[in-house]
Formats: sequence, C-alpha cells, structure tokens
Amino acid sequence: MPFRLGYRRRQLGFGQGFHQFTEGFRHESAEYAEGVTGKPGAMRFRDSARLDPSQVSDRRGMRGGPALAGGGGLIGLIFLVISLLNNGGGGANGVSIGGASSDQGDLSAQCQTGADANQREDCRIVGVVNSVQTFWRGRVPNYREAKTVFFTDGTQTGCGGATADVGPFYCPNDSTVYIDLGFYDALRQRFGAKGGPFAEAYVIAHEYGHHIQNLRGILRREHDGSTGPQSSSVRTELMADCLAGAWAKGAVDTGFIESLNDDDIRDGLDAASVIGDDRIQQASQGRVSPESWTHGSSEQRQRWFLAGYRAQNGDAACDTFAVSRV
Ligand SMILES: [Zn+2]
Repeated sequence: MPFRLGYRRRQLGFGQGFHQFTEGFRHESAEYAEGVTGKPGAMRFRDSARLDPSQVSDRRGMRGGPALAGGGGLIGLIFLVISLLNNGGGGANGVSIGGASSDQGDLSAQCQTGADANQREDCRIVGVVNSVQTFWRGRVPNYREAKTVFFTDGTQTGCGGATADVGPFYCPNDSTVYIDLGFYDALRQRFGAKGGPFAEAYVIAHEYGHHIQNLRGILRREHDGSTGPQSSSVRTELMADCLAGAWAKGAVDTGFIESLNDDDIRDGLDAASVIGDDRIQQASQGRVSPESWTHGSSEQRQRWFLAGYRAQNGDAACDTFAVSRV
C-alpha cells in the first residue's frame, strides 16, 4: 500500500455512522461523565491569549487533490468501506498539491488572539493546537513541534496522498497532523455526534497523542498488524485517547483555554463513543466483529480518555501496554 512508508499513519478511526445508533451511546457516555446537565459544552479561550498560527498550515482550497476527493454519495461510501477494509488506506497516487501558494496567509491574519478562537472555527483549532503543544512541551523532554495541516478534499502527505475520506490522521514520517475541517460536520451529520468545541478539540488532542507516541518511540513498536480488542493497535489508539484526556485535564493551565466544564468533557466522550469500532461496524456492516478492531470500542475509548482526564500522576496512567487488559 502506497502510504506505508515505514509506519502506518494513525487515524482517528471512524466510518459510516447512522443516527439511529446515537441514542444508546449518548446514554452510555452520560454514565461516564459525572454531573452532566444536558447543556452543550462551551469551551472558551481567554480573549487576550496570543495564538501562534505558524503551527498550522492552511492548504484549504488548493487544487489537485486525489481524483476521488470529496466523493460523497455512493462512490464516497464505497471508497470509505474499501478504506476501512484496507485498514485505513485510501491514499491515491499521483496527488499534487497544486501551484505555489502561500501556505499560511489567512490564518496568520485572522487568528491572532483567543477572541478570534472564540469567533471562528479555524482559529479555534489553531488555539487547540497551541494549547496541546504547550501542554506537551512542558512534559516531554526535547519536545519537537508537530504542524497541523488544514486541507480540503485531498492533499499530499509524508505518508502518501490522502483524501478527506480517511478522516483526520497523524503521519509519523513528517510528524504532521492532517485534517479536513469538514470532518467535524461529518462527525455530527453522518455519525450523529453531538459536536461542540471540545469534541473538536478531542480529535486534535488524539492526533497529537500519536505525535507524543512517535517522539517516545512507541509507534515503532506497534508493528505487528494484529487486530482485536486487546491488540497492540487498539492499545496504541487507546493510549492516544488517554493522552488527549491528560491534555484536557491540564488545558486551562496552558493559558489558552479559559474554562472547561463537565459538559465539554461529555461532548468529548460523545465524540469518542461515536468513533468506537463497535459502533462503526454496527452502522456500516450491521454487525460487530471484535476480532478486527483497530481503535477500540466506544466503551474502551471513553474509559481511556477518562483515565487520562482523571489521572493524578500525569500520563503514566496512559500506559496501555502495561496492563493485561485494556
Ligand atoms: Zn488514532
């Protein structure tokens, strides 16, 4: 497969969701988030926080994505299923990024402060990237920054060409997170997630969890290609969920985010449950086959996010390889 250059890219893990599956899971996530009130989360940034838009490259609207980009409809669905069968493939060869273009212009002009992050979704993601990297810079010796790239439809990456259909992912070869922000609409509309600013932040924090794993040499270990609820692939993904939870716990202390409450956490748990392997399989195949899980069940993903969020000893609680069962 063309994108297997050394490592596999790590995806968020998602598939075709259907709204009829959402109610039960919303209930389930409510059991995990204590003190829920039913209000939507409202994660806010400090208005005066200085954003660093240089951590994000903006390739939105560039021409030259893969031919299947933005397929939609039946083609998109077939492509998605093929992608899932290929364990997250979906890269097409022959991708070009398009002509010379400023990678940056709009974001650096528009996204300067936390007030901008409270106004605009793209600036909010810039703020989340800043917060997540500030958090990890203080905890990982010799932390190296990882850029996030916004794209639409398709783009070239260090892990080969990628279309939006594969969802957000981290590519270890170029230490970069890739996301088509349209994924957030899909999360709500196709997968039935509740959405909200923190649900969006969770997605980013999960991908940066893979960056931490990469810096620590953990992604290199995860190579056996096995699947199933206790497999190394699932343990790797659950660790990334847990690291996202660890960031959430420290997010306010990074100086970017003003407040984070139980409703926000519940939105994150809701997003984590929506992209559980069991739920995706149920929705896309009408049955659940645990032996082929790569990312973990809805229950596992929520539980490990919370393990990170509640940990007293930092992200040591996130060592999913140290426990007999995850
Ligand atoms: Zn992942």
